[in-house]
Parts: sequence; structure tokens; C-alpha cells
Amino acid sequence: MNINGDATKQNTYDAIVIGSGISGGWAAKELCEKGLKTLVLERGRDVRHIVDYPTATLNPWEFPHRNRMPEAFDQQNPIATKCYALDESTQQFFVKDAEHPYVQEKPFDWIRGYQVGGKSLIWARQTQRWSKFDFEANARDGAAIDWPIRYEDIAPWYSHVEKFVGISGNKDGLETLPMANF
Ligand SMILES: Cc1cc2nc3c(=O)[nH]c(=O)nc-3n(C[C@H](O)[C@H](O)[C@H](O)COP(=O)(O)OP(=O)(O)OC[C@H]3O[C@@H](n4cnc5c(N)ncnc54)[C@H](O)[C@@H]3O)c2cc1C
Repeated sequence: MNINGDATKQNTYDAIVIGSGISGGWAAKELCEKGLKTLVLERGRDVRHIVDYPTATLNPWEFPHRNRMPEAFDQQNPIATKCYALDESTQQFFVKDAEHPYVQEKPFDWIRGYQVGGKSLIWARQTQRWSKFDFEANARDGAAIDWPIRYEDIAPWYSHVEKFVGISGNKDGLETLPMANF
């Protein structure tokens, strides 16, 4: 008889992260680095570096429709095609409307990418810090609820992420756009 007596122990985790996008991926990274036994569950396919980028080196004229989605596709995907980045070169990273329809009680354009890395594979890499003006805006204008934190509280955490991710940009010295760890 071949019974795995350690099965429960082997399948017990300190933390389980659902989804491997920027949020889940980063959470899992932090948890692992803190020594927690972490399980990441991802619904989408694995995207292997290079081999799963079949369109990366193609020119627009090498696509069937010059890298634009045909009209029939637009009609079948009124939500997904609202995203400017969905074209013939990137379509494999977007969930099509019919693949996973959802109920909209109010208009809500939900752009989704089901794969390891989630939408981090299609985002535009624009990352600006909020400034002190943003954190103080509600209190200053008397609108809604004051933020419980200020720029100084979050600044070290911005640095923590920026250094790992490799954010690039210009050190312009603008108070409204605080300088990051470029
Ligand atoms: C074209 C485009 C450009 C963008 N550009 C920028 C930009 O320049 N700057 C910026 O700040 N933001 C940008 N964004 C927004 C940014 O990319 C997203 O806010 C961010 O990537 C979302 O990360 P997330 O981890 O919350 O979600 P997602 O990346 O959507 O990750 C969710 C993950 O969970 C998985 N999942 C879902 N359901 C389940 C389930 N039931 N079980 C298991 N796994 C599941 C999904 O497959 C996916 O991998 C852009 C978005 C798009 C679409």
C-alpha cells in the first residue's frame, strides 16, 4: 500500500493567494520573502518568456488586418475593444467578452487578462507617485473623508516597490510629481 502520510502537511499553507497579477504576485513575493509557505492559484495559462510572445517581432503589415481587429470582432467584443491596447498583436492576452460574460447593473468596462502575471503583461508601465497635494486634497477642499495617511507615510513603500520593479523616468524636481527611485 502506498499512502502518503504527509499529504495534509504537504498541502497546508500559511497563505494562499488567488490570482497572480500585480496585486497577487506582489503579495506572494512578500509572503515568500517573509518565510511563509505560500500557494498561488492562477486560473489562466502560464506565459513562457519568449516562446509565448509569437507576435513580438512582427511588423503591422505582417498581420492579417495590419494589426487592427476586424469589425466583426469589435461587434462581438464591445467591452474588451474599449481597451486601446487590444489589437492583433496583443489579443491573446485579453479575455474576450463571450468567454466570460458578466452582468452590468451599471456600466462597468472590465478589461481582463487571464494568465500568469494577469494584466501586468499588457499594462503601459506608467507609474507616478501621488504627491502630498493628492493626500491632502480631501482635507484641503473639505470633500469626502480625509486620507488617514500622508505622502511621508507611503514614500518608503513607493521606493520599496520601485526599486524591485525597475521604474524609469525623469528626475524633474516637481512638487506635484515626486521623484521616484528611477
Ligand atoms: C492596456 C492596459 C494598460 C494599463 N496601463 C497602466 C499603467 O500604465 N499604469 C498603471 O498604473 N496601470 C495600468 N493599467 C492598469 C493595471 O494594469 C491594473 O490595474 C493592474 O495590472 C491590475 O492588477 P491586479 O493584480 O489587481 O489584477 P490582474 O492583473 O487582473 O490580475 C488578476 C489575476 O487573477 C487571476 N484570476 C481571476 N480570477 C481568478 C480565479 N477565480 N482563480 C484564480 N485566478 C484568478 C487572473 O487570471 C489574473 O491573472 C493598465 C491596464 C491595461 C488593461
